[in-house]
Amino acid sequence: MAEEQHTYPSIQLIDGEKNFTNDLPSFLKTSGLADAGFNYNMVAVFGSQSTGKSTLLNKLFGTDFATMAEAQRRQTTKGIWMSRGVDSHCLVMDVEGTDGRERGDDQDFERKSALFSLATSEVIIVNLWEHQVGLYQGANMGLLKTVLEVNLQLFQKEKRERSMLFFVIRDHVGATPLKNLADTLTADLQRLWASISKPEGLEESKIEDYFNMEFTTLPHKILMPEKFDEEAAQLRERFVTPTNSGFVFRKEYHKRIPADGLTHYTSSIWDQIVHNKDLDLPTQQQLLAQYRCDEISNETINKFEDALLPLQQAMQSGKVLEGLGPQMSIIRKSALESFDHEASRYHREVYERSLRQFSDKVTAGITGKTNYDFAALVRDASESAIAAFRTEAESCCIEGTSWTFDEELQVLAREIAAVASRMRLEEMKRLATRLEKKIKQELDEPILLAFKQPKEDMWDKVMNAFEKTRSEAELTFLSKARSFNSSEEEQDAGVGELRKHAWTVLRSRIDEEATDGNLSSNLREYFEDRFRYDEDGVPRVWKPSDDIDSKYRDARNETLKLIPIISTIRLSDGSQPSVDIAGSEDGVEPKDLFQVLSASRQRDISDRFRRAADAVYVEAKRSTISSGAS
Ligand code: GDP
Ligand code: MG
Repeated sequence: MAEEQHTYPSIQLIDGEKNFTNDLPSFLKTSGLADAGFNYNMVAVFGSQSTGKSTLLNKLFGTDFATMAEAQRRQTTKGIWMSRGVDSHCLVMDVEGTDGRERGDDQDFERKSALFSLATSEVIIVNLWEHQVGLYQGANMGLLKTVLEVNLQLFQKEKRERSMLFFVIRDHVGATPLKNLADTLTADLQRLWASISKPEGLEESKIEDYFNMEFTTLPHKILMPEKFDEEAAQLRERFVTPTNSGFVFRKEYHKRIPADGLTHYTSSIWDQIVHNKDLDLPTQQQLLAQYRCDEISNETINKFEDALLPLQQAMQSGKVLEGLGPQMSIIRKSALESFDHEASRYHREVYERSLRQFSDKVTAGITGKTNYDFAALVRDASESAIAAFRTEAESCCIEGTSWTFDEELQVLAREIAAVASRMRLEEMKRLATRLEKKIKQELDEPILLAFKQPKEDMWDKVMNAFEKTRSEAELTFLSKARSFNSSEEEQDAGVGELRKHAWTVLRSRIDEEATDGNLSSNLREYFEDRFRYDEDGVPRVWKPSDDIDSKYRDARNETLKLIPIISTIRLSDGSQPSVDIAGSEDGVEPKDLFQVLSASRQRDISDRFRRAADAVYVEAKRSTISSGAS
C-alpha cells in the first residue's frame, strides 16, 4: 500500500511572491530523476480552491501535498508545489491557486501558473465538482478560458504540440452518466474556444488541434469513502502503469526536455512568464540545447583536466612517465564519451527539429498552390534544414577536439532524402490523378460519338483517341516526374500505374455508354434511320406498293450486326488493341478485358431490340392500310 512506501519530499517550486526556487537541482537529485533523460512524465492539476486537488494527487501518486484536512497542522500556501510520484517517474505539480475571479493579482497568478503548467506538463488534470458542470459562466470556466488562451500563446511560430486535458469530475452522484457530463463539458469548451480571440492564421483552428480531452468521475470521498478509494485506485493505474490501456502519458505529449535540462528550462520559462515576455516554446527548446551543450562541455573539460592533474604533477617532478600516451588517450576518450552520452539527447532534438522543419516547409510550399517547382522546393528545404542542423550542432561541439557530428549529419541527410522521396511519390500520385482527369475529359466525346453512331470501325476511333491521350499523358508524366529528380524505377512504376488507370478510365466510360437503356435507344435510332427514312434522310410515307417487309428485314439485320461489334473491343482489321497492361492486371483474362457485353446480355439486348423494331414495323403496316382505306 502507498502508506507503507516512503514518499519523496516536495518543494515549493514557485512561491506566493512568484519566486522560482533555487532547490530544483537538489530536489531532482533526491527524487532520483536527475539522470532520467526523457524517461519521466510531468502532470499538473488545476481547479478551484478546496475542490480536493491535493487530496486527489496524493491518492493517485502517493505524494504528500498539504491538504485542507490538515490545515491546522500545515498551512496550504499559494504557489506551485512539486513532488515525485512514489512508484512512477512522475513529476507532479500541485498548483495551489486561488479563485482568481475577484482580485486582479490572483488572476495574474492564475494566468501565469496556467502558462507555466502548459509549457511543461504533458497532462493537465482539471478538477471540478459535478455540480459545476454545465455552469457555463461558472468560476471554473474562467479558469479554462485562461488555459485555452495561454496555450495559443505558446505555439505561435512553429508547429503546435498537443497536451491532454484530463477532467476529473468529483462527488459524482451517479444520476447523470459520465457520457452526458463529458458532452456538456465538451460543448462548453467548444463554445469557449469559439469565443476567444485567436492570433492571425489560427482563426480556423479547432480546440482538438491542441488538446486531447478525457473525462472521468469519482464518487464522494466523505459519503462513500470505500467507493472513492476503489475508483481512485483504478484511476491511479492510468497514471502510473505504462502498460495500462488507458495510460495517459502518451509519447506525443512529452515536451522532450531531458531531465538534466529541466532546471534551466523551467526556470527560464518562468522568468519569461513573470516578466510578461513572449514565450515561444520551440525557441526555448533551442536555447536550452545550446545552453546545456555548453554546460556539459565545460563539465567534461573540467573532469578531463582533473584526470590529467596527477599526470601533470608527476611530470613536473621530473619523472619519466611510462605509458603516458596511452593513459592520456584513455582519459581523453572517456571524457569525450561522457560528453557524447549527455549531449546526444540534445542532438537528437536538434536533429528531429531539423527534419520536421524540412517536411513542414515542403508541405507549406505545395498546399493550396497549383504552380510550383517541386524539385527546387525540396532542394531549398533540404539545404536550409541541413544548414540549421549544422549551426546548432556546431554550438554543441567541444573546441579543439576531433569530436564531430559528421555521422549525425549523414544520417540526417539520408533521412531527409527518404522523406523527400516519400513526398515525391505523393507528388507523382497527384500528378497522375490530374492526368487521369484529363484523359477522362478527352475520351468523353469520341466514346459518346462511337456509341451514338455505331459502325464497323467504331473501336478504331475510340482506341485512336485513347492512344493519343494516353501517350500524351505518359509523356507529360515522364517529363514532370524527371523534373522532380525521381529515379527510373519510380518513373517506370508511375507510368505503369498511369497506364492501368487510363485503361480503367476508358473502360468505365465505355461501360457507362453500354447500359441497356443507352444501347436500346441507340440501336432503335439506327434502325429507324434506315427503315423510316430514305437515302436522303426524308421520312417515308408508305404506299401499299412499297416492299415494307424487305426494307424492314434489311434495316433490322443491319442493326443486329452492330451488337457483336459493340460487344467486344476489336479493331476493324479483326485484331485486339494492345494495351500493355495485361501483365499488371491481376487475374484478368484478356477476354474479359475487351468484352463489353457478355453473350447473355447480347441476347437480351437483341431480343429487346427485335420487339421494338417489330412495333415500328406493325405501325408502318397499319399506316399503309389506313392510307389505302382513305
Ligand atoms: P484543494 O484546495 O483543491 O487542494 O483541496 P484539498 O485536497 O486540500 O481538499 C479540500 C477539502 O475537501 C478537504 O477538507 C478534503 O478533506 C475535502 N475533500 C477532498 N476530496 C474530497 C472529495 O472528493 N469530496 C468532498 N466532498 N470533499 C473532499
Ligand atoms: Mg491543495
